[in-house]
Amino acid sequence: MAKRDYYEVLGVPKNASEDELKKSYRKLAMKHHPDRNPDDKSAEEKFKEVKEAYEVLSDARKREAYDRFGHAGVDPSAGGGGGPGGQGGFADVFGDIFGDIFGQGRGRGGGGGGANVYRGADLRYGMEITLEQAAAGFASEIRVPSWESCEVCAGSGAKPGTKPKICGTCNGQGTVRMQQGFFSIQQTCPTCHGRGKVIADPCTACDGAGRLKKSRTLEVKIPAGIDDGMRIRLSGNGEPGVNGGPPGDLYVEIKVKEHPVFQREGDDLHCEIPISFVTAALGGKIQVPTLHGRAEIELPEGTQSGKTFRLRGKGIKGYHSSYPGDLYAHVSLETPVRLNDRQKKLLREFETTLQDPKHSPQSKGWMDKVKDFFQ
Ligand SMILES: [Zn+2]
Ligand SMILES: [Zn+2]
Repeated sequence: MAKRDYYEVLGVPKNASEDELKKSYRKLAMKHHPDRNPDDKSAEEKFKEVKEAYEVLSDARKREAYDRFGHAGVDPSAGGGGGPGGQGGFADVFGDIFGDIFGQGRGRGGGGGGANVYRGADLRYGMEITLEQAAAGFASEIRVPSWESCEVCAGSGAKPGTKPKICGTCNGQGTVRMQQGFFSIQQTCPTCHGRGKVIADPCTACDGAGRLKKSRTLEVKIPAGIDDGMRIRLSGNGEPGVNGGPPGDLYVEIKVKEHPVFQREGDDLHCEIPISFVTAALGGKIQVPTLHGRAEIELPEGTQSGKTFRLRGKGIKGYHSSYPGDLYAHVSLETPVRLNDRQKKLLREFETTLQDPKHSPQSKGWMDKVKDFFQ
């Protein structure tokens, strides 16, 4: 069965504002609401369709995903149904935007919906990867927590043979009204934490939670070019919601390990290449490491320490970039150490041949400045 476009379902343009969405949703949901259309299957279907469309489009992040990838980007099956006990009914959306119309008196109960609906909490998963992995991208499997309905109590949280009771504090509403001066403030019920029910005799297998924490394996695709601190959102893989609310999301946070050779700056890479002063003086080919094997650069005669060579396109192609960055090779002169007598003698001899300042343009410039300074 082909799904209708969410904007079409709500009868709004693609650039509709939040207010327009809400207005249109209210109108359509009122029209098709099951309370007003008893035993009308097609109205119920329409109502569900409208509700689903609004759930996606009213969430900025889901809307963005839907705009980019269509229905595949939002996967409502991960969001809606399948809550413990299979309620996931109509109460949830009505809790927040219809509360003011139907008021708190709206008949709840009726077999278990009701009370406050909460979205599950988001989860965070830290993942450390290498620079090579960040540059090339890879697929990885991670172990994440998951929750399964408790088999002993069939998800009710109550000891087998007993039943959860309607919460006496809030009469099953999940919220209580507090009088503060002139204002009456609605708050989550402190006794049942919004569930509307209390469990007098909790199931011992799940401690009354109705579900058990397990773990499962999830495949994560790390896109090429990802950088330190970026997050990947796995929609609907967070904690389950309460009373049939949608689950939270799982965020995989990327930490890129320090690389022994390269430092990354955006899409560019930097590395330091030590060279001997003989190579620097005479010039010649030197090898430069890159993420994809070695490259060679031609060092000109008389290369000074600190000179930078740019290797175009040998950086990283960032996640948002169309072209790869560059690799900057910074040359540093290495002073020879632990010389023997013969080497020292040769160097001294060599130095006597360097009297002409043309051999040392930097020193000459520096000497001139110092002279000016002392006068
Ligand atoms: Zn249980
Ligand atoms: Zn309560």
